Amino acid sequence: MDFALNEHQEMVRDMVRSFAEEKIRPTASERDRSGKFPQDVFNEMGELGLLGMLVGAEYGGAEMDLLSYLIAVEELARVDASVAVGMTVTNSVCCWPIMQFGSREQKEEFLPKLASGKAIGGFMLTEPQAGSDAGSLRTRYRAEGDEWVLDGSKAWITNGGVGRYFVCLATRDPGLGAKGISAFILDAEQEGVQVNRPEEKMGLRSSKTCMVSLDGARVPGKHLLGAEGEGFRIALQTLDHSRLGIAAQSIGIATAALEESLRYARDRHQFGRPIMDQQAVAFRLADMDTRIEAARGLLHRAIWMAEHEMRHTRESAQAKVFASEMCNEVVSAAVQIHGGYGYSSEYTVERLYRDARVTTIYEGTSEVQRMVISRALRQRAEALG
Ligand SMILES: Cc1cc2nc3c(=O)[nH]c(=O)nc-3n(C[C@H](O)[C@H](O)[C@H](O)COP(=O)(O)OP(=O)(O)OC[C@H]3O[C@@H](n4cnc5c(N)ncnc54)[C@H](O)[C@@H]3O)c2cc1C
Repeated sequence: MDFALNEHQEMVRDMVRSFAEEKIRPTASERDRSGKFPQDVFNEMGELGLLGMLVGAEYGGAEMDLLSYLIAVEELARVDASVAVGMTVTNSVCCWPIMQFGSREQKEEFLPKLASGKAIGGFMLTEPQAGSDAGSLRTRYRAEGDEWVLDGSKAWITNGGVGRYFVCLATRDPGLGAKGISAFILDAEQEGVQVNRPEEKMGLRSSKTCMVSLDGARVPGKHLLGAEGEGFRIALQTLDHSRLGIAAQSIGIATAALEESLRYARDRHQFGRPIMDQQAVAFRLADMDTRIEAARGLLHRAIWMAEHEMRHTRESAQAKVFASEMCNEVVSAAVQIHGGYGYSSEYTVERLYRDARVTTIYEGTSEVQRMVISRALRQRAEALG
């Protein structure tokens, strides 16, 4: 077992870390206040190859290994989780399924634009009445000539209004259940796609999340992703993969909270000495550090399995649920260590506390992850005889 990063992975980490420190950190708090989407940062990420990290070189991507990609997500989240989520959505739930399930023609048409940042990507699964129970989605499609026509509403769509291409799930007939669902590559810049005003969110404020109405939106026949009826399988496999991005994001936010706390506990004096020298504070820091490393261990195991093409549904869910819950505990501990100052927007931990909250909700809530894990345990129980 080798826990060391190779030379290439170290290079990616150092490159993304210095980009994040120089180009993202100085304006992160300001963006949190204004909610302005950082198009300039995304343009630069496109130039650096950060928006098509898992896309093959023949389609203009950086063709990196999964660990390098997730190190990049962690480094971005350590500085600004809003930027990290937009980046991971375009990589994990748009480029990745096109790379995995797309035809050569689809890859040639969409991936070079997505990987270069000329177009940002996204994923449209959730609907107002279909969240955890995604298989109950009601957005319908029908064939008309050599096109597909989509009607329905999609909720909570990250990169809504700033993204162009979305992997969109719709059903031929809700009565068919999961078998009726197909996946399409939807161009959001067309008639019939109405992106509503961004949601006013607690955190991730410069990431845009919108309700999208589809009213006779047209998709060319050739933009069906995979075969008709394969959409739900494509969505589930995409989520197995993309949950690793949320685990990495959670580890990045928690790492930032630990670093802020170390700095503060070293410099803040009470009772005549740094609060870090109070054992209760030191032990809290020790637990934060240990839990971050435990989450990283689970994530790296899931990455290893994915890279060896092993089924990793359970491991991906375990990494996501543990890392996101750890993240929420760590940011809460960081606010506690900062005392009253942790409750002030002058201090970074206040933003981290708000940004962390969604990690146990999106890409499957903690309860959904536990459903996935317990399904695997059920099989194990049966096998015990
Ligand atoms: C900032 C943000 C960005 C997002 N981006 C995207 C995106 O880009 N694309 C996209 O498609 N979606 C996106 N989502 C949607 C997200 O994936 C859903 O919010 C999530 O899957 C939960 O669905 P829901 O909000 O409808 O909650 P619900 O499914 O209504 O759940 C409500 C509560 O009930 C619990 N619950 C539900 N069913 C069960 C059960 N069987 N057993 C136990 N507990 C249960 C849930 O765990 C939760 O605690 C985003 C959401 C947010 C907040």
